[in-house]
Amino acid sequence: MADASFDVVVIGGGHQGLIAANYMVRNGYTVGLFEQRRELGGGGATESRPISGFIGNPCAHVAGFYASPCNQDFKLHERGLEYFFPKVNTSMVYPDGRCIVSYRSIEWDPETGMIAPQPDIVEKNVKEVARISQKDADRLSWFAEGKGWEWGFAAMTVLWNPPPLPGEFDPVEAIVTTPGSGLDRRHCYMTATEFVSDFFESNELRAHALRMIGSGGYYPDDPVPLPILITNVPQQIMGMGGGVYVGGTHNVIHALQRALSEEGGQFFVGADVDEILVENGRATGIKLADGTHIEAKKFVISSIVVTQTLARHMRNVDLGTEGAEWRRKIAKLRVDRGQIFWGHICMHEEPNYNAMQWNPDVRDGRWIFMGDADIEYMDREYRFRNAQIRPGQCPDRLYLWEGTDSKWDPRYAPPGKHVSLLEEMAFPASWRTEAEWMQIKKEAPDHFLKEWQKYAPNMTWDNVIATNIDTPWDIQHRSDNFLDGNWGLIPGIPSQWCTLRPIPEFAQYQIPTIENFWMASGSCHYSQGLTGWAGYNCYKRIAQKHDLWKPWEGRLY
Ligand SMILES: Cc1cc2nc3c(=O)[nH]c(=O)nc-3n(C[C@H](O)[C@H](O)[C@H](O)COP(=O)(O)OP(=O)(O)OC[C@H]3O[C@@H](n4cnc5c(N)ncnc54)[C@H](O)[C@@H]3O)c2cc1C
Repeated sequence: MADASFDVVVIGGGHQGLIAANYMVRNGYTVGLFEQRRELGGGGATESRPISGFIGNPCAHVAGFYASPCNQDFKLHERGLEYFFPKVNTSMVYPDGRCIVSYRSIEWDPETGMIAPQPDIVEKNVKEVARISQKDADRLSWFAEGKGWEWGFAAMTVLWNPPPLPGEFDPVEAIVTTPGSGLDRRHCYMTATEFVSDFFESNELRAHALRMIGSGGYYPDDPVPLPILITNVPQQIMGMGGGVYVGGTHNVIHALQRALSEEGGQFFVGADVDEILVENGRATGIKLADGTHIEAKKFVISSIVVTQTLARHMRNVDLGTEGAEWRRKIAKLRVDRGQIFWGHICMHEEPNYNAMQWNPDVRDGRWIFMGDADIEYMDREYRFRNAQIRPGQCPDRLYLWEGTDSKWDPRYAPPGKHVSLLEEMAFPASWRTEAEWMQIKKEAPDHFLKEWQKYAPNMTWDNVIATNIDTPWDIQHRSDNFLDGNWGLIPGIPSQWCTLRPIPEFAQYQIPTIENFWMASGSCHYSQGLTGWAGYNCYKRIAQKHDLWKPWEGRLY
C-alpha cells in the first residue's frame, strides 16, 4: 500500500520538471513533484552573492527562457516573470581599444510570444561591423536580407520539436539541401573555428563568434551541432539574443511553481528520490530515500540526468535483453565539456572600458566579451592552456565575458554599487583535487581582475568590494545534475545530440522497454541551458501518444 498516490509523479524540481508537471496538471491529472533539495529551482536559482546586499545567479543567468512557449501557455508574465532586454545585446572588446557593439534588433511580445525584427537596428549593427571589416559587414547584409530568418526558423524548429522520427520534417536536412540557403552538408561536421572562418573574413569577427559559442559549452576546436552554430553565428552579432531575468533567475521557478500550485499540482521538497518502481515493464511509482512509497497511476516523469536514472533510480529494474548494453553506453557518456568558472564581483563603480572612446555604448552590453582576435591561439591553445590552470598557474591571456545586471535592475545591488557576473571556460572538476580547487578559487579573482584591467583599467582591487568565483568543483557539488561540474548535464557534442541524445534508443524521451516512464531531462533533449526544451518536447511526445492537450497546434512550435 503506497503512502501517497498521484496520477503523475515528477522527479526533480528544476525548470524542466516544473514544466512537465504544469503540462500534466492542465490535462486534469493529479500531479506530485518531488525535489531532493530543500527548495525548488535547481539551476534556476538566485542567491545573495558574493556578499549580502547583492544578488547573483549561481547558475542560469542570461535569460533565454523568454523564447519558451511556456511563457504563454502558463501566462508566466502574470505570475511574476519579467524580462528586461538591454539596448545592447553583445559587445566584443579588443585589447587595442576597438570594439563591436551589437544593438538588440528584435522585440518580443509577452502576450503572444511573437518576435518582431527591427530592420533599422540591423542596419545599425551592420554599420558597426563595417568599422572593423567591410567584407564582414557585406556578408551580414547578405544574411539579413533573407537568410537570417531561414536559418533562425530552422534552428528554432529543431529546438522546439522532438528529434524527428522517420518521415517527420527534419529542418537541418531541409536547410542543408536547399540550394542558396548558404549552408550545405559540410557545415554539419565543422568545428566552431571552421564554421566562423567559413562565415567571416576578419579574425575580429571570428574571435567574437568563437567566444560566444564558447558560452554554449564548446571550445573552438570542438565540432558543434549546426543548430547551435546558426543560433550563435551570426544571430548574436545581429543583435538577437537573451535578456535579463528581472529580480533574478529564480523568478522563472517561482512563476512555474505558482502556475502549478494554482492548478492544484503539489510539490514536495527534501524528497530525495531513490528508486523508480517498475512492475511488469510499467512504471508504477517511486520510492524516496526515507522509504516513502509514492504511487503513480498514469506516468512517472523524470527530469534528472539520465546517468542517475539508470545507475541509481533504475538500478534494480530489468531493462530487458538490451538493458546491459544501454547501461554501458549511458555510463560512457562524455561529460568533459561545459565546465566554467562562474563568479560574482561586486564593486563601487561599473567597469569603464577603454573602448568607450570607440563607442560609448560598449558597456551597455548584456554580454561583454573581452579578448584578442588571435584565432590561431583560440583554436590551438586556448583549451590546452586553460586545462593547465592549477594552483600558482594561470594562462597569461583569458577570454572573459561579463554582465553587470545591476546597471538595469536595481534589485541586484545597493544604490550606487554594482555586481558583475564573470565567466571563463574551464575543465572537469575531477581533473583537480578538492584542495587544489580551493586554492584555484582563492587565486582566480586576482587573475581575472588583471585580465579585466587590460580592457577596463578601473577594475582594480580598490574598486572591488567582494568576490566569489565558483569553480567546476563548486558547480558539481551544487546539483547531482551537473556531472563533473559541467553546466549542460551532458554536453551537446554532435554524438550526443538530437536523434543521438543521450543514446539513439532513448532519443524519444523513453526507455523502450518501460511503459509510462518519460524523461524530461536536458540530458534527453537539447539541454544547453534554462530553456525548457526538454520539458516541452517530452510533453509533446506524451501528448501525441496519449492524445492530450496540444497547445502548439496553430502556432509555429
Ligand atoms: C554555472 C552555470 C551557469 C549557467 N548559465 C546559464 C545561463 O546563463 N543561461 C541558461 O539558460 N542556462 C545556464 N545554465 C544552465 C542551466 O542552469 C541548467 O541547464 C538548467 O538549470 C537545468 O535545468 P533542469 O531542470 O534540467 O535541471 P536542474 O536545474 O539541475 O534541476 C534538477 C533538480 O532535480 C533535483 N534532483 C536531483 N536528483 C534528485 C533526486 N534523486 N530526487 C529528487 N530530486 C533530485 C536537483 O536538486 C534539482 O533541483 C548554467 C548552469 C550553470 C551550472
